[in-house]
Amino acid sequence: MRGGAELSRHTTTVIAGGGVSGLSLAAHLAVADHRHPVVVVDDGSHPLDDRTWASWSDRPGLLDAAASRWFERIRVHVNGRTTVIPLGRYRYRVVRGSDLRSVVRRYTDPLPHFTFHRGHVDRADQDGVVVDGDHVRARWVFDSVIGPEVPPPSEAQLGFRGWYVRSERAAFDAETPTFFDFRTSQDHGASFVYVLPFDAHHALVEHTSFTASGALEIPRVQQEALTEYLTEVVCTGGHEVEREEHAVLPLHAAQAQRRRGNVLTIGTRGGLLKASTGFGYQRIQRDSEAIAKSLRRNGHPFDLPEPSGRFRMFDAVLLDVVTRESAQLERAFGALFRYRTAEPALRFLDEATTPPQEWKLFAGMPAPVYLAAAGRRLSS
Ligand SMILES: Cc1cc2nc3c(=O)[nH]c(=O)nc-3n(C[C@H](O)[C@H](O)[C@H](O)COP(=O)(O)OP(=O)(O)OC[C@H]3O[C@@H](n4cnc5c(N)ncnc54)[C@H](O)[C@@H]3O)c2cc1C
Repeated sequence: MRGGAELSRHTTTVIAGGGVSGLSLAAHLAVADHRHPVVVVDDGSHPLDDRTWASWSDRPGLLDAAASRWFERIRVHVNGRTTVIPLGRYRYRVVRGSDLRSVVRRYTDPLPHFTFHRGHVDRADQDGVVVDGDHVRARWVFDSVIGPEVPPPSEAQLGFRGWYVRSERAAFDAETPTFFDFRTSQDHGASFVYVLPFDAHHALVEHTSFTASGALEIPRVQQEALTEYLTEVVCTGGHEVEREEHAVLPLHAAQAQRRRGNVLTIGTRGGLLKASTGFGYQRIQRDSEAIAKSLRRNGHPFDLPEPSGRFRMFDAVLLDVVTRESAQLERAFGALFRYRTAEPALRFLDEATTPPQEWKLFAGMPAPVYLAAAGRRLSS
C-alpha cells in the first residue's frame, strides 16, 4: 500500500470506493486497456465479504465468472395465485462480494498500474481527492462515496430487512427465487416478501416496502411480517436467523447531477439505482462499460447514454401511486408479470421496451389512478 505523497506522484485516475461500482469500473478500465495509473481507494467501512447482489441479465457480462448461482425461473405470488414463470432469454444470478473481488482482481492484478489503497476519501474536487487528509491529484475521479453537492429530491424510499435463515425442514425451492409474495400485511406501506434460496434449508428472506420519503421504518412490523411468512407460508417448522441486513434506500426518479469538473459520480450516489425496484447491480455494469468505452474513444469519461425521461416518468408515477395507495403495488406487479415468461416485465424494468410494448404492459393497471399521478408529476 502506498502513502498519500506517493499516490500523488503517480495517480491519474482515482476511483473513490471499492464496492460494486468502483470494482466494476476498475475491471472495465483494465479490459479497455486503460494505460494510465488507476487507484481504487476504499476505507473498508462496508466490507465486501458477506455482501450478495442478485440481478437479471439477457446477455453475457464481463464479471459473470463472479456469479455463484444462476436461475432460469422465478416464483411470484400475486392476486391470490402462485405462479412459476420462466425467465425467457434472461437469467437471474447471484454474486457474492468475495467472488466479485477475486474476479475483478484477475483483470487488474496483471497490470501494475492498477492499485488498491486502504484510505478514507474526505472530499472529491476538480483536481483530485483528499484521502486521509492528503490531497491526491487526479486527472479523473470516479466517486461512489461523496456524491453530488445537491442530491436530487427523493420520491419515496425502499426499506428492506433481510434474514439469512436456516430452516429445520427442507422448506425452500433451491432452484426458484420468489421475486415477490404479497401474503403479508399492507397496512404499513406497499410491501412484499422476496426469497433468494441458497439450498433447501437456507435462504435470504427479505421484507421490502415502498413508503413516502421520510416515513419512519418500523423494524417490529418487518420482523413480524418475516416471522409470519416463515411460519405460515414457507412452513419452516422452526428456523434460525443466522444474519440480518437492513437498509432504507432513498429512491430518486430524477437524474443526479453526475459531473463536477473532472469528477464523475458512479454507483448509488450517481443515481444508478432503478427508482421503482432499488436494483442497481446490472445498471452499474452497463455504466462501467460505457465509462470505459468513452475514455478509450474520446479521452474523457463523459460520453454516456442519456437516461430516458420516459422511464424516469414511469418510475416517478409508480412511486407516487404506490406510496398513496399501497394495494396498487400488487396490481402493478400482477400486470407486469402476467405473461408466459418474465421477459416483457424484465425488459420494461431494463428500460428496453418500446412505447407500444409499454401500452400492452400497462393494460390491466387502473388508468385514472396513473393519469392523476402523471398530472401531479407534470404540474410539480
Ligand atoms: C443491503 C443492500 C442490498 C442490496 N442488494 C442488491 C441486489 O441484490 N441487487 C441489486 O441490483 N442491487 C442491490 N442493492 C443496491 C446496489 O446495487 C448496492 O447498494 C451496490 O452495492 C451499490 O454499489 P456502490 O458502489 O454505489 O456502493 P457500495 O457497493 O456500497 O460501495 C461503496 C464502497 O465505498 C467504501 N466507502 C464508503 N465511504 C468511503 C469513504 N469516505 N472513503 C473511502 N471508501 C468509502 C465502502 O467501504 C464500500 O466498499 C442493494 C443495496 C443494499 C443497501
